[in-house]
Amino acid sequence: TALGNVLQIKEEKEVSATTSGAEEKVDKELIQKQRKSLPAFAVRHELLRTIAENQVTVVIGETGSGKTTQLTQFLLEDGFGSNLAKNGERLMIGCTQPRRVAAMSVAKRVSEEYGCKLGEEVGYSIRFEDVTTKEKTIIKYMTEGVLLREILMDANLEHYSCIIMDEAHERSLSTDVLLGLFRNLIRRRKDLKLIITSATMNAERFMNFFGDVPQFTIPGRTFPVDTLFSKSTCSDYVDAAVKQVMTIHLQNYSKYKRNDGDILVFMTGQEDIEMTCELVREKLALLDDPPPLDVYPIYSTMPADLQRKIFDKPSETRRKVVVATNIAETSLTVDGIKYVVDTGLVKLKVYNPKLGMDTLQVVPISLANAQQRSGRAGRTGPGLAYRLYTERAIGEDLMYIQPIPEIQRTNLTNVMLLLKSLKVEDVTKFPFLDSPPTDLLSNSLYDLWIMEALDNCGNLTSLGHNMMVFPIEATLSKLIFLSCRPQFSCSSEIVTIVSMLSVPSVFFRPKERAQESDAARERFFVAESDHLTLLNVYNQYETQRSKGRKTAAWCSKNFLHHKSLSRARDIRNQLILIMKKNKLPILKSTNNDTIRKCLCAVYFHQLATLAKTDFNKGSVYTHLRQSYMNMHLHPTSALNSGAEAMASHVIYHELILTTKEYMSCVTVVDPVWLLEFGAIFFDTTPAVKQRIQEQYGVSLRSKEQVIKELERDSQALLVEEA
Ligand code: ADP
Ligand code: MG
Repeated sequence: TALGNVLQIKEEKEVSATTSGAEEKVDKELIQKQRKSLPAFAVRHELLRTIAENQVTVVIGETGSGKTTQLTQFLLEDGFGSNLAKNGERLMIGCTQPRRVAAMSVAKRVSEEYGCKLGEEVGYSIRFEDVTTKEKTIIKYMTEGVLLREILMDANLEHYSCIIMDEAHERSLSTDVLLGLFRNLIRRRKDLKLIITSATMNAERFMNFFGDVPQFTIPGRTFPVDTLFSKSTCSDYVDAAVKQVMTIHLQNYSKYKRNDGDILVFMTGQEDIEMTCELVREKLALLDDPPPLDVYPIYSTMPADLQRKIFDKPSETRRKVVVATNIAETSLTVDGIKYVVDTGLVKLKVYNPKLGMDTLQVVPISLANAQQRSGRAGRTGPGLAYRLYTERAIGEDLMYIQPIPEIQRTNLTNVMLLLKSLKVEDVTKFPFLDSPPTDLLSNSLYDLWIMEALDNCGNLTSLGHNMMVFPIEATLSKLIFLSCRPQFSCSSEIVTIVSMLSVPSVFFRPKERAQESDAARERFFVAESDHLTLLNVYNQYETQRSKGRKTAAWCSKNFLHHKSLSRARDIRNQLILIMKKNKLPILKSTNNDTIRKCLCAVYFHQLATLAKTDFNKGSVYTHLRQSYMNMHLHPTSALNSGAEAMASHVIYHELILTTKEYMSCVTVVDPVWLLEFGAIFFDTTPAVKQRIQEQYGVSLRSKEQVIKELERDSQALLVEEA
């Protein structure tokens, strides 16, 4: 039987484990004991019965009850991993996560529980990193984005027997798109099980969305948490958090003479987290013989090896303080937390479709988040939650009841392209759990039209169709395609630039060595372009590598993040593979201007013109589409280094409002190129056109021509498909 097969596999594993030493066996027993003590284990039987009897089940449970780590294993033990697909292949159990950190860390844990090497029976897949083995992996953790792309290749998800959509209450953009797709998919695949797990918030919505499906609640085991509010509004939340941590640590140490429980701090983003950790360590160092305290940061872009320490067993002697983003609200469980320090804030990206601008701001969390955060203190015993905001803040409608789902506040361009590729003709009729605002929707369709991904009727063009071959944002994908055209012939360089734009900034700028690091960065500058500056950094890094030098040392000497660069290298290799598979040529450029031209041909709609240069405040630019809006070069931009004379027109990669409206990654372009490549936007009199054609030898298309070409394009696609 199916179950028999699995048990047999397990037994074989057991045998091999016993031969590899006693130490490992003890660990194994402990792990199995831990597994059995989880709330999910107690209801395993009923849970599996509910799943067997229904196609869709919503599972609700407290954080730490075992939803993420146990459900996949229960299903496997119940035979779901051995159902044979039509072609004789074993089917997988998939589990999606909104965050890559969670996918990686949970897969690691489950591989240990299962007793295999990560990437064999239990693996994970995140963008650009597939740690699974074909024909071997049965439990696959992945980001939601990865599953979305798999649906693109295989609309029925034929390789899976069940999908667990974990953390659905987070309502990430991809959660909502997946939910909509699953509405139809489960009708086509009657044998596919869909399990949606959620914290208590939002659970009802999911049940109704799939037409009254059962809800299974894993009985929780929680302890009371006392919530304490601030008496007054704090002005500096980092400072307030640090003080609170020190107070908790020292007071309770003198009371209990040991570590009575660990501390979890909810902070906003990477910078604030690092700062908090730094300050706590500093304060500690000022004390004579302080009680031991280990400080750990956690945020989504941090290196994986550092994160592992966070899960170390709580210790009697050393207290642990974990400073985290909202990732620790539900996706990661740190055991032994007794104290929660909640800033009540979250760093949120909100997209303004009219300005094409992301706003990155620190805003108050919702009431649901606040409750969730406090609850983290009561998992192993009674706890205390210190809220660094006043009780009034909750009463005065400063907080939303629920967080706003991402689909209502983010750029939808890439998602719309995905839906169009999945043959969703009318995106307004797509079954969204919450509809996106119409201006977000229509603006993203408009952007796709400008990008020539959609034709005049809103259908996918062949370019749009092709753009989906890369797992990257639409504009970057288009950039690669254009760079392969004979006219530009710079795909080798463009792929590097795209890879560099796909990783966190490579420049390292520690506050205490700001000047030194600025000088180091300037040595890489290509005056007219941040894109070319990135290319320059990468090429120098590659030169070091090829000479067999130690790149890590070279990076730290030059104030560069080694991790980011090596990741950019991985991404580049992957993109090159995809290019080769799709027979796209890898062309080396001979001239920086063609690279800038190629950038201009993609980003002509993200254009700014120089308004004025103020000696003290730097250059002020105005937006092409919203001329009343001022924009600024980021202080780290290469264009600050004196290229202003020629920088009358610049294109930018992104526009972000933080303290100011900053363009990030800027390149100077020639206005003639705008007429040449941005004809859909820019036009001039026939006389000027004539003169430009004579002088520069470029042929200028009219807007009408561009639109006609778009029509032709869509017909070509129809022919292709027929
Ligand atoms: P849920 O998804 O219901 O929040 P999980 O399945 O993530 O719960 O976690 C169940 C238990 O597994 C946690 O209480 C924790 O003790 C343990 N656990 C989870 N991830 C790890 C890890 N990476 N390392 C060690 N223990 C872990
Ligand atoms: Mg979980």
